[in-house]
Amino acid sequence: MKFILSSELGKLSKWLRILNYDTYYFKGRDRALALKALQDGRIILTKKKDVFKEPDIKIVVLNQEKLLEQIRELKNLLDLTIDIDNLFLRCTRCNAETVVVDKKNVKGKVPLYVYQKQKEFYRCSLCGKIFWPGTHRDLAGDYLSKIENDNC
Ligand SMILES: [Zn+2]
Repeated sequence: MKFILSSELGKLSKWLRILNYDTYYFKGRDRALALKALQDGRIILTKKKDVFKEPDIKIVVLNQEKLLEQIRELKNLLDLTIDIDNLFLRCTRCNAETVVVDKKNVKGKVPLYVYQKQKEFYRCSLCGKIFWPGTHRDLAGDYLSKIENDNC
């Protein structure tokens, strides 16, 4: 399941990447958005009520305003998988997959306190951004478990 999100869903696009969904965040016009969705076989997520209809493209119009509610909405509509053990495998900035890097290779490239405290590091295969899930993973886990724990 791959997504393309219209411009008002920037926060959600970041979180879908954290959840390891291939997510394209699109800021252009609707026609170009539709074309990209068609080319890549992506599901369009939008909040625009007046969005175009296109028989070959799956479009999901989200009703919720808050991020957590939007994720919950998607989980119900599309059976989104939330795997708290597999977060941060995709770059939140550019959507490319991340690779594990040896701790010694990030010395000097991350703040010293991070280097000293964290064991796991990942690097984006495209933009080179370095990630260390650490506390982010705990926070994300807490956040997402709110969705997991109530099956409404
Ligand atoms: Zn990147």
